[in-house]
Amino acid sequence: MFLGDQFSEIPAWLHDNGKKLDSILAAQHVPHTILFSGSEGVGKSEMANMFSKALLCVSNIKLPCDNCKSCNLFDHHTHGDFLHVSSEDSKNNIGVEQIRNAISFANKTSAFGYRKVILINPAEKLQRNASNALLKLIEEPPANTIALLVSNRDVNLPATVHSRCLRLEFSSPDHQVAYRWLSEKLPNECEFSKTIALSLRQPFKALTLIKTKEFDKLLSSISSPSSESGLDIGLLRSLAQQRDPNKLFLEYLCLQLEKFLKEATKTTLNNHSSKNIFECQGKLRSLIAKIDQGVALNISLNFTNIVNKLIKAME
Ligand SMILES: [Zn+2]
Repeated sequence: MFLGDQFSEIPAWLHDNGKKLDSILAAQHVPHTILFSGSEGVGKSEMANMFSKALLCVSNIKLPCDNCKSCNLFDHHTHGDFLHVSSEDSKNNIGVEQIRNAISFANKTSAFGYRKVILINPAEKLQRNASNALLKLIEEPPANTIALLVSNRDVNLPATVHSRCLRLEFSSPDHQVAYRWLSEKLPNECEFSKTIALSLRQPFKALTLIKTKEFDKLLSSISSPSSESGLDIGLLRSLAQQRDPNKLFLEYLCLQLEKFLKEATKTTLNNHSSKNIFECQGKLRSLIAKIDQGVALNISLNFTNIVNKLIKAME
């Protein structure tokens, strides 16, 4: 059984997909390619990792057992039947050579004489020729080789790849469910940290951001005393001074804009301002998407231009 008595420990919003993966393991008929799809930070990578380990585990009580030799090697990142394919830092994409390497891995004999697992994450970073090479692998998969694809934006994957995958959709939990989960994980963190991190609606990402103190850094660099209560000119001026805004900063501003536009009434915002703010929000979203796609651009300059337009729109 997938996760055995630990199943109840996985977050509630992952239970449905956990049950699907459990029935796949129980039936012993594992599809050759499974796509874990959904927004960033909702637990896809964590589930795909646990499932990879379960697929390779040689126990027959619960999967993964965490005790067998296979589980041990997996935990130490030295399992010979597991290949993790990710974007190379310098290029921010998955190239054709990496997929050719995965194909030769798939054609080798399994070290345990059982299964082999190739985990491709994030799959939307596959270059076009890498996707074509992957297609050859998933069209004629070697026996007992399973490919798991994890993607935040699976619309970027070719339809030919989609049509050969079993797709599992991962959705964001509602705020209360996520907040309860995060509070159990980090009981000593302050309410504000948890709330703001979760406002990105990505609990696993929120967990990382709090643990790595990224939110502390973000908030301490925003000098506006009103930054807790929403968007105002002071906060914008403070944001405009950011020399090196990262993606978190942009997401934070996007979120503040969303809240601001929801709360603003016709009495506080005229049509012209509101149109300009909507435009800025669109530009910000497109900037975030370009960063995700690894497009080479001057983030700082683009960010400053957007913030300056926002300041004008709100003055
Ligand atoms: Zn095991």
